Amino acid sequence: MDDQALERYSRQLLVPGFELEGQERLLQAKVLVVGCGGLGALAAQYLAGAGVGRLLLVDPDIVEISNLSRQIAYTEADLGLAKSEVLARRLLAMNSSLRVEHKVTCFDATSGPELLAGVDAVLDGTDSHATRQLLDRLTAAAGLPWFMGAAVQMAGQSIAFSGQRAEGCYHCLAPAASAEWGGGCAALGILGPVVGMVALQQTLDLINALSHAAPVPWGVLRQFDFRTGDRMALTLQRRPGCELCCDKRDGAPV
Ligand SMILES: [Zn+2]
Repeated sequence: MDDQALERYSRQLLVPGFELEGQERLLQAKVLVVGCGGLGALAAQYLAGAGVGRLLLVDPDIVEISNLSRQIAYTEADLGLAKSEVLARRLLAMNSSLRVEHKVTCFDATSGPELLAGVDAVLDGTDSHATRQLLDRLTAAAGLPWFMGAAVQMAGQSIAFSGQRAEGCYHCLAPAASAEWGGGCAALGILGPVVGMVALQQTLDLINALSHAAPVPWGVLRQFDFRTGDRMALTLQRRPGCELCCDKRDGAPV
């Protein structure tokens, strides 16, 4: 790390448990951000600020005016432009020492394996149950951790899954046949700070996992009610017979 990097990251280097080793781990890491909306765009800004060395941003959408109430990485000048491209430019303006790539595409069964190549962790910025199911499957196969977040109206939730899934998996939490959670922000609405709070929890868990600054509570579902300020933490129970994380022969956890 050169003098400029030491100065740039000086405040976080002082944090006990993070320190130089944690910074080096972040600088060496590559994170895939799937979805550059309210969750992903904010998370990516903090990951770039903290010095995650390589970032890959994926989103098929353009910036629309209805995004601006919560997706504060974007401005009116960005309307009609691809989110991932605008965000990549913004992150490089913030921290030009990073390698930031972007793809204007969906994360799907075709693109997913290639997008995951060389990645150390994945941040979920999607609003789709089906995409999360796919993320769960492909990251489990690749032994990669991922960090889920969801928010609607004035509530949110987040959970971190380890590469090994010893704690269970997203399929245990939300089986394939379960309905789409909530119906999404477009149908039900969302307040900007709500999605921001969830994104920051995901980001902090991811930074802790990569830097080893603090233990990550794998498989603990955090539920936030921002109307009352209540928070709940529920430990995921591995679902017997889970199609992803249980042994195919006897249905027992592997
Ligand atoms: Zn499972």
